[in-house]
Amino acid sequence: MAAALVLRGAAGSLLGRGRRQGAGQAGLAAACSRSMASKTPVGFIGLGNMGNPMAKNLIKHGYPLVIYDVFPEACKDFKDSEQVVASPADVAERADRIITMLPTSHNALEVYTGPKGILKRVKKGSLLIDSSTIDPAVSKELAKEVEKMGAVFMDSPVSGGVGAARAGNLTFMVGGLEREFAAARELLECMGSNVVYCGGVGTGQAAKICNNMLLAISMIGTAEAMNLGIRLGLDPKLLAKILNMSSGRCWSSDTYNPVPGVMDGVPSANNYQGGFGTVLMAKDLGLAQDSATSTKSPILLGGMSHQIYRMMCAKGYARKDFSSVFQFLREEENL
Ligand code: NAD
Repeated sequence: MAAALVLRGAAGSLLGRGRRQGAGQAGLAAACSRSMASKTPVGFIGLGNMGNPMAKNLIKHGYPLVIYDVFPEACKDFKDSEQVVASPADVAERADRIITMLPTSHNALEVYTGPKGILKRVKKGSLLIDSSTIDPAVSKELAKEVEKMGAVFMDSPVSGGVGAARAGNLTFMVGGLEREFAAARELLECMGSNVVYCGGVGTGQAAKICNNMLLAISMIGTAEAMNLGIRLGLDPKLLAKILNMSSGRCWSSDTYNPVPGVMDGVPSANNYQGGFGTVLMAKDLGLAQDSATSTKSPILLGGMSHQIYRMMCAKGYARKDFSSVFQFLREEENL
């Protein structure tokens, strides 16, 4: 433990120096810090549906973790081998690279700037990567606060769902200083097969919000088409097969079909448990709505999808996977 602390300190200061140098020196420093820092502890906060398998993939790549979740039960898989600590500040004291995977902007603000937040004890030169899907304006606000403490913040939301998190083939959309991207990519590549630099802080969130708005629309469309076809007498498996060889094909139809019995290993095969909660999809559509208002962009279908997912939350679907919109339509079909 003491040895790990000494090594981490050395790696942390080298990372800090690298950030203040020119491009060539910074590259060399980054390469040195990577080799020195590869086995130093990485902090992980938020061990939920996504964070749990992401953290396990970091462990598979040899990174010891320092973890925290406000819900202690979420840390039970890690108790034997990893350091479970009592607050985000404790994580920051023990690790100079931290990944956060939290539900909302509110949670991210609390974890970074709250009374026991990361910023209370963050070390200079630390790299803080937020993979939650939150408001791009909040990412920018957090980046400013982190910078004041001499550390670096990057937004890095993900696409791919729980299956991709388990398989380590998430897509990360990364916003922040380009010169910090290589350091972030070293960790993110342990959990994802696509790590894409999008631009300044907040641009990762912007890409993510656009993707999820399209996903929400296509999931509702798939659920409507499947329900209509079933009512017209088609076998759901056959209909899905035809859609998936035709122009209606999309991720919601061929990888995450919302109709029970069509596919194995997806939430619709498990009473819509696990996966991506309806409440989180409603949250992302709210972010899209806010962004559309501030940029004066028309999002007619995105706005309607927001209302549908909010209605579902009010009717008991909040914790079910968002593909349960199929079940919701079936229940509402006498309208
Ligand atoms: P989740 O609710 O399953 O997990 C979030 C975890 O964060 C929980 O364990 C919770 O206890 C913890 N948490 C909440 N507040 C905290 C706090 N203040 N301090 C410490 N821990 C706290 O959510 P998830 O499905 O893992 O999603 C996480 C993020 O990833 C969300 O922003 C979501 O929109 C995004 N996302 C989810 C999916 C998916 O398929 N589930 C896919 C892509 C992106």
